[in-house]
Amino acid sequence: MDEYDIVVIGGGSGSQVATAAARQGLEAAVIERGPLGGACVTRGCVPSKALIHRADIVDELRRADEFGIDAETQAIDYAGITSSIHDTVYEKADRQASSLRDNDNVVLYRGEGAFVDERALEIDSTEAGADGERIRGESVVIAVGSQPLVPPIDGIEDVAFLTSDDALYLDERPDELVIVGGGYIGTELGYFFGALGADVSIVGRSDRLVPREDDDVSAVVTESLETYCTVHTGYEAASVDEADDRVTVTATVADDDGSAGDSIELTADELLLATGRRPSTDALDLETTGVEVDEKGYVETDETLETTADGIWALGDVLGVQPYKHAADYETKLVAANVLDDAGETVDYEAMPHAIFTSPQVASVGQTEGELEDDGREYEAVKTPYEAAPLGLVFGADDGFVKAIASPDGEILGCHIVGPQASTLLHEVVVAMDSAEGAVDDVAEPVHVHPALNEVLYSAFDELADAKYSTAPDWRDVTTR
Ligand SMILES: Cc1cc2nc3c(=O)[nH]c(=O)nc-3n(C[C@H](O)[C@H](O)[C@H](O)COP(=O)(O)OP(=O)(O)OC[C@H]3O[C@@H](n4cnc5c(N)ncnc54)[C@H](O)[C@@H]3O)c2cc1C
Repeated sequence: MDEYDIVVIGGGSGSQVATAAARQGLEAAVIERGPLGGACVTRGCVPSKALIHRADIVDELRRADEFGIDAETQAIDYAGITSSIHDTVYEKADRQASSLRDNDNVVLYRGEGAFVDERALEIDSTEAGADGERIRGESVVIAVGSQPLVPPIDGIEDVAFLTSDDALYLDERPDELVIVGGGYIGTELGYFFGALGADVSIVGRSDRLVPREDDDVSAVVTESLETYCTVHTGYEAASVDEADDRVTVTATVADDDGSAGDSIELTADELLLATGRRPSTDALDLETTGVEVDEKGYVETDETLETTADGIWALGDVLGVQPYKHAADYETKLVAANVLDDAGETVDYEAMPHAIFTSPQVASVGQTEGELEDDGREYEAVKTPYEAAPLGLVFGADDGFVKAIASPDGEILGCHIVGPQASTLLHEVVVAMDSAEGAVDDVAEPVHVHPALNEVLYSAFDELADAKYSTAPDWRDVTTR
């Protein structure tokens, strides 16, 4: 059995712990059953955002006449779009594999790893002649990520359905599509397919799409998505059925008391399940180790990200805490420091942002008003529309806003943005929250470029700071269109 200083299971975010170990002269192994780079590179963040960029282009053309420009989309080379995105991301995954193979101190095992003993793994290899190899790590990192969750909808095993894994690379755009799930994947893909002309219905269980966002944000997203899709909120898919190559979803009102209420039937060419994700832990045989998982299979760790078994660590989606690529990267750095330098660092998610790339974009950090109310915490919130800043007005971002939330003594507690470039705008708040003070003044006092879109944030935080001599822009009294 080959012995390594460190073995990483999963060649997504976690593979960087292996390369960091290699840079320190240690011997490392990475086990990966699919393309390198994990979900983000080939099945998640990057291909989905490449599709959404195409939707944004079509959407700009749809809105062109609002800005005095007569333009329209003539044709869409759908297969060309998906195949070029596919080739780009798979090339990147191949390059990542080559670079690991070129690293003298890292061995890449292609196949599925499963524990056979505390820190020993057997590899069900995808490479000829390598099956059944066993390796052991002084330390092991579980970085196996997550996969689409298929809910127990009546009849689901008898119908063809898509998940985000296959919906990104279709050869043809479906004419009609039912999406079950109103979370971030459902709203991103609903916007994409809807903007490209498909007849899309979204069924969401809560009374709003993206229900985990601040209430005002999810209200804007729900209303905006109605431009691209037919939105059925408050419904839960109860059963599915297929006939003549068409799938019918029966959804019933999701009553709080669990009783069945009204129902609707939606028929389409394709069904996309965007009903959440589950950890990829079932193939790992974790019961042969002391690694404990919760009732959904997510790996339990302490604050240093060490599992309940000595020398076995975990990071990324498999924790079920912050299911974002940037969170997995943050945890990767922390695990690298704790395993390689015995740094004893602990996780701190207070300034962990996230974004949803639907239309409009959403970005958020810290607590929502609802969460603060539930906690009984005192706070002050300011909601500033994009139109307060001249560029917000120029972009016609009518429904966009920044909501800034602070404690009475000026500590930033949260910021929630919905509107163009929200994911980029948010970062000055993330930097401020990550600083020693995390104060409203850290955003309100620095000079902001005029007329950059960040002036919306400036305006919101300036009002929250109650600045004595304010020069933040306010164009709310002007209309250009
Ligand atoms: C459609 C979609 C869009 C997304 N968009 C965004 C976004 O815009 N921004 C964002 O921050 N996040 C986004 N995400 C989430 C992001 O992709 C994940 O949070 C991130 O990839 C998690 O990284 P990870 O390393 O934990 O897991 P992964 O990237 O999934 O990597 C885990 C790897 O482990 C491998 N593996 C699993 N089990 C085994 C085994 N037993 N043996 C060997 N290998 C194994 C898998 O093949 C995989 O390559 C999106 C996800 C999806 C599905």
